[in-house]
Amino acid sequence: MKAVFVTEFGGVEKLRHEEIPAPEPKANEARVQVHACGVNFIDIYFRTGLYPAEPPVILGMEGAGVVESVGADVTTVKPGDRVAWAMARGSYADMQCVPAQMLVKVPESLDLDLAAASMLQGMTAHYLTHSTYPLRTGEAALVHAAAGGAGQWIVASAKLQGARVIGVVSTPAKADIARGVGCDEVLLASDDIAAEVKRLTEGRGVDVVYDSVGKATWDASLNSLKPRGMMVTFGNASGPVDPIAPLLLSQKGSIFLTRPTLAHYTAKREELEWRASDVFNWLRDGVLKVQIHEVYALGEAARAHSDLEGRRTTGKLLLRP
Ligand code: NDP
Repeated sequence: MKAVFVTEFGGVEKLRHEEIPAPEPKANEARVQVHACGVNFIDIYFRTGLYPAEPPVILGMEGAGVVESVGADVTTVKPGDRVAWAMARGSYADMQCVPAQMLVKVPESLDLDLAAASMLQGMTAHYLTHSTYPLRTGEAALVHAAAGGAGQWIVASAKLQGARVIGVVSTPAKADIARGVGCDEVLLASDDIAAEVKRLTEGRGVDVVYDSVGKATWDASLNSLKPRGMMVTFGNASGPVDPIAPLLLSQKGSIFLTRPTLAHYTAKREELEWRASDVFNWLRDGVLKVQIHEVYALGEAARAHSDLEGRRTTGKLLLRP
């Protein structure tokens, strides 16, 4: 089968698209013919080595496809089932062996491309707005990269919770997209974010910041929070945040800080099923009309990564094996 992997960490030139032996499912795994895999920023972190893994590393943490065979202990899915997954690495490939407990069945009415496009970012928005900081009606949230893949989902799910959403994006064209998915106000990354947030909230600050940009937005995010607000730093698009002294949290208003990852919010089977079924229902009900930026051929993974890193995309990037 063909797969995209790295044997050395680095830039997009390290991505190899080559023939490798198809994996054999372990007793608890299902082998899935991948119909589409999602491109996520986490794939860039594994490519560059920011997130450690033992090479060779087949990239990709998300996909949808059809079960082709199952290991001896698997009873929850069978060959022919349409399934989707997130946070199981190795999706940039014709076939992937995925632990059966990480697979969810895709409703008949849902297109496999849409399922592949929604699992990781949709469930991320779900846990951020429902579990990490469960937003309540009338609360205010600041969402960075609001026109991006995860960002669009976070805006939509925060609005569903009744929150006021202030988005941040880098260009006027992205601002239009952010408004289109529900942002009440949109700031440009070049603005004085904290000052604008304070102005928009009559000096109060927001209840929560969902910050996926990391290093570049850290200070502005902390300065945008109300006293005892929640800082959710969940990504490193501009680089990882530097170490901090806990005293800083006191100085910024006794604020709370968390650095969550989807894996810990879907580790229990019932949590995975709750989040995935809500995301599928949101798709059915049109809570977010998922914008597919482009479906790239698997062999074009390097171009997809360049586009994502270069801030040239909005919405979701998919690869087609
Ligand atoms: P996006 O589609 O959001 O793309 C990244 C966006 O980040 C860009 O479009 C850009 O938007 C913004 N950005 C700001 N600064 C930079 C920079 N220096 N370089 C590149 N992009 C920058 O990607 P994803 O939806 O895949 O991921 C978004 C973030 O969410 C990532 O940091 C990812 O790691 C994180 N994430 C974390 C999860 C978790 O559980 N912890 C799960 C899922 C995603 P603009 O041009 O508008 O500034």
